[in-house]
Amino acid sequence: MNFQNTREFAKKLDANDELAHYKNEFYFPQHNGKDVIYFTGNSLGLQPKITKSYVDEIMNDWANMAVEGHFYSDKPWWDYHERFCEPLSKIVGALPSEVGVMNTLTINLHLLLVSFYQPTTTRFKIICEEKAFPSDQYMLQTQVAFHAKNIGFNPSEAIVEVKRREGELNIHHEDVLAKIKEVGDELALVLIGGVNYYTGQVFDMQAITKAGHDQGAIVGWDLAHAAGNIEMHLHDWQVDFAAWCSYKYMNSGPGNASGFFVHEKHHTNKNLARFAGWYGHNKERRFLMEPSFDPVQGANGWQVSNLPVLSLAPYLASVEMFNAVGMDKLIAKRNLITSYLEFVLQEIDKEVEQANFEIITPSNSTERGCQLSVYLHGQGKELFNYLMQNGVVTDWREPNVIRLAPVPFYTSFEDMYEFGQILKKGIIVNSK
Ligand SMILES: *Cc1c(COP(=O)(O)O)cnc(C)c1O
Repeated sequence: MNFQNTREFAKKLDANDELAHYKNEFYFPQHNGKDVIYFTGNSLGLQPKITKSYVDEIMNDWANMAVEGHFYSDKPWWDYHERFCEPLSKIVGALPSEVGVMNTLTINLHLLLVSFYQPTTTRFKIICEEKAFPSDQYMLQTQVAFHAKNIGFNPSEAIVEVKRREGELNIHHEDVLAKIKEVGDELALVLIGGVNYYTGQVFDMQAITKAGHDQGAIVGWDLAHAAGNIEMHLHDWQVDFAAWCSYKYMNSGPGNASGFFVHEKHHTNKNLARFAGWYGHNKERRFLMEPSFDPVQGANGWQVSNLPVLSLAPYLASVEMFNAVGMDKLIAKRNLITSYLEFVLQEIDKEVEQANFEIITPSNSTERGCQLSVYLHGQGKELFNYLMQNGVVTDWREPNVIRLAPVPFYTSFEDMYEFGQILKKGIIVNSK
């Protein structure tokens, strides 16, 4: 499509957008009486208007029924988590029995590594990406330290990062595959962020998963920036396990519950270690208070505790919204609006002499989701501040990168045009 950087053209794209009305289904922070232009749905998604009713339902049931709510409310609390299996499985490309919701992301990765990182003296290495999200780095470092002494391997050799090439910001796909081959039969685990939080780069999860398996390793994914953003087929790709938070693209609210995936092939494997609790126990027999653990055959066999229903409620609201629209339509709009934003940035780079942008996110739509990370060469944090003061919510990462996520659910093409105009003014004002 031949884009134009005009309000009229942007409005035309909005008029043709069958998801445009969803913008009204979310609450926006206000700036001078108007909705802000919200680009940080990759950090905290906006609140759907319907969410409150899901929370109120639990609050009312609790007030009116108290303990009886576990079994007799309209949405009983004791198996509330099972309502997610079907809709969430469609979002990540899994069987319903392969997905669950519990805890928070880093906790779930730790719990999953109890099962899926079982190092030996000869096979103990973990491949991850250079500069992984800090929580993932700490998680891997402490998992390694936890095992190293008992098993007897050198912890400083255990974590192998796939590096960026000199002067580059994205990681080459072939470098990941080469590193997997190089580590070979010492490789216990590959654990990478499916979409890089800083650059927005999407990894080829299918090929990397296969390459890890070819070396006899387990392959898991941190899908924090992938869930609700990109197309995935975790089951068909034979991914061993994965986990994601729900407060980014999945709009479930601050710090909220995490989703996780365990491939069917592991469901009945009795040799996998796990840290169990009563909610992972055989559903029919859960309340018989039996002494020996008999796990549910499925991802929910990894459940531990009684459910935090008040935090699952907003996530359920969101998952049902995603299913009402379908990932296909969200991804189609995502591709178009991200390309339009890219175009607007390129036009402003041409129009304004002082502008010098470098979009570090890959330009190919198979290698990116809903995020453009932009290097603002020659511009300091004042530009970010200018944007915030003028109703554009973005985020700033050192040294001078802004990340822009034009979330298809609630951003419009006119927002992209409007943002471009504000950015242009900001650069001119800042360069004086
Ligand atoms: C956001 C994010 C996290 C956050 O983890 P929490 O346990 O939810 O705080 C972890 N890893 C990655 C890659 C992330 O993007």
